[in-house]
Amino acid sequence: MINFTVGPVQSSEKVRSIGAEQVPYFRTPEFSDLMKENEKLMKKFAKASDDSRVVFITGSGTASMEACVMNLFTSEDKVLVVNGGSFGNRFVQLCEIHDVPHEVIALEKGKTLTREELYKYDGMGFTGFLVNMHETSTGVLYDIDMISEFCKKNDIFLLVDAISAFLANPINVKEQHVGAMITGSQKALACPPGISVIVLSPEAIERIERNKVKSMYFDLQDALKNGERGQTPFTPAVAILIQINERLKEIEAQGGVESEIKRIATLAEDFRTKIKELPFEIMSESLSNAVTPLHPTTASAYDIFTTLKDEYEIWVCPNGGDLADTLFRVGHIGYLTEADNDALIHALEDMKKRGLI
Ligand SMILES: *Cc1c(COP(=O)(O)O)cnc(C)c1O
Repeated sequence: MINFTVGPVQSSEKVRSIGAEQVPYFRTPEFSDLMKENEKLMKKFAKASDDSRVVFITGSGTASMEACVMNLFTSEDKVLVVNGGSFGNRFVQLCEIHDVPHEVIALEKGKTLTREELYKYDGMGFTGFLVNMHETSTGVLYDIDMISEFCKKNDIFLLVDAISAFLANPINVKEQHVGAMITGSQKALACPPGISVIVLSPEAIERIERNKVKSMYFDLQDALKNGERGQTPFTPAVAILIQINERLKEIEAQGGVESEIKRIATLAEDFRTKIKELPFEIMSESLSNAVTPLHPTTASAYDIFTTLKDEYEIWVCPNGGDLADTLFRVGHIGYLTEADNDALIHALEDMKKRGLI
């Protein structure tokens, strides 16, 4: 099987072998050291300031999105949410559930946020800005530099869901004044699902300290306090944290975050060159390196996903809802190679010969 989905993605052999081992007890100095190293490398790769902190939540990416909305904002805030697809919509829903006053910038699917649209909200007293750096459902990458400049100008706290963008496209938490950044274990971190990670700026820590959140599991004050000694309040997904440690050290040994981004960008470029002769349109105004959204011009996207899975043992990422027949996505994150791209292209060429596309 070759997995081109956007998560869970393929892991390295070393990461997979850790999954086969016994899970150790974790209230130990050894595990605390490992957690401290995870925090240090996450800060380094996100380019966060020294006084930033990192918390590891046991739960998928949405758990950290919810923890951030609950801990970083209150009913006193007025936030702006970019909604260009299912992940943007998730932030809108979270603001509704947790009574955070919000306005929504609703974008058409596949469209990016323009300066003109953004600056309609200039000088309007917003205190928070919520955006998915890469709207994975449609493959649109937003311009974080432009958003960051807008937030600085308006003194707005910026929360970035970089769950599928971290390690695939550059982000610089300190320079871009990102208040908090979220990622997840099963995207470009290429580990099993189950852990999400929040990088918190000093400003975010202040907001958390001021806020009294009504939750036991999502209390980030508690998470920060335990994190001081390299621990978590409750039993975490210990094995995945060990796998994350291995993976972060792998990236560091192979040249750090820049070379990992370059590796993914090269893979994406290679795929986009090779797909040109086939009957697909690339459907995003602003592509990320993480994924290529494809609109098949001659067949149903969902049928292509099913045939590739059942007859070629290749997984691409289907879309749901009203995009199910018109769009599927090919991911470039995880342990993939150009030879894997070739295998997918050959399968699609074969489908073309058979009259399936
Ligand atoms: C994958 C993803 C999430 C989180 O999804 P989970 O299923 O909760 O891990 C959130 N935002 C974006 C942009 C994503 O790509």
